[in-house]
Amino acid sequence: MDVAVVTVGDELLSGDTANTNATWLGRRLTERGATVRRVTVVPDDVEEIAATVRDLSERYDAVVVTGGLGPTHDDVTMDGVAAAFDRDLTDHPDAAAWFAGESDYTGDLAPGTTHLPEGARMLPNEVGVAPGCVVEHCYVLPGVPAEMEAMFDRVAGEFTGERRHVETVYVDAPESALVDAFDELRERFDVGVGSYPGDGVRVKIQSVDAARARDAAAWFRERVDGRDEEPSER
Ligand code: ATP
Ligand code: MG
Repeated sequence: MDVAVVTVGDELLSGDTANTNATWLGRRLTERGATVRRVTVVPDDVEEIAATVRDLSERYDAVVVTGGLGPTHDDVTMDGVAAAFDRDLTDHPDAAAWFAGESDYTGDLAPGTTHLPEGARMLPNEVGVAPGCVVEHCYVLPGVPAEMEAMFDRVAGEFTGERRHVETVYVDAPESALVDAFDELRERFDVGVGSYPGDGVRVKIQSVDAARARDAAAWFRERVDGRDEEPSER
């Protein structure tokens, strides 16, 4: 299943906030076997959110949007998502019922808190206040990391795919010295190979077949004198 992640917020674009939600979602979706094909950052702007969500929802099996829920002036994500699917925002009966019933929240609700795109499936916010929702294959989650993570966990089972097994080999050599070995590795084993230089090179070998990934890693380790542990001084 191919997934796009849209993170919303001016503070992400300006660098005030590190986009840890994108990293967290990328990891969790990949662990589940889904393939993250795109991560996009958009400003708190209705038109930009709508255009991005519309485009990505046509191209991928699911879109996960995070950030910009709630009733403050800069929280316009629900407007953008509603516009993307040509729906109106409506005072959602399930959101109202959640606050009247199961929710632990006892404060006053700011106007607009229960407004969701018409016909959406409401996702309660167990950690914060603003609810999320699902519209078609678009999942709308809060921006506060703890709220986003708890809400994602409610729907995680809807993201599926064939899980890939990953083996990592660390090589203390310049990346350029590994070019031939990479070619040979891919030819012999038909595995996915990622090369991540830093202090030495971290090589990621992936396959849906665990034995194949292990065999390929063993062969490669031998071939380039690599290790299976990250050197401790790094
Ligand atoms: P709430 O439901 O509480 O109103 P929200 O959905 O409105 O939350 P935002 O207003 O977008 O969320 O952001 C709330 C907080 O979460 C901010 O401090 C923001 O910097 C942080 N945040 C938003 N997006 C991300 C992200 N992608 N990665 C990490 N932190 C984020
Ligand atoms: Mg907010």
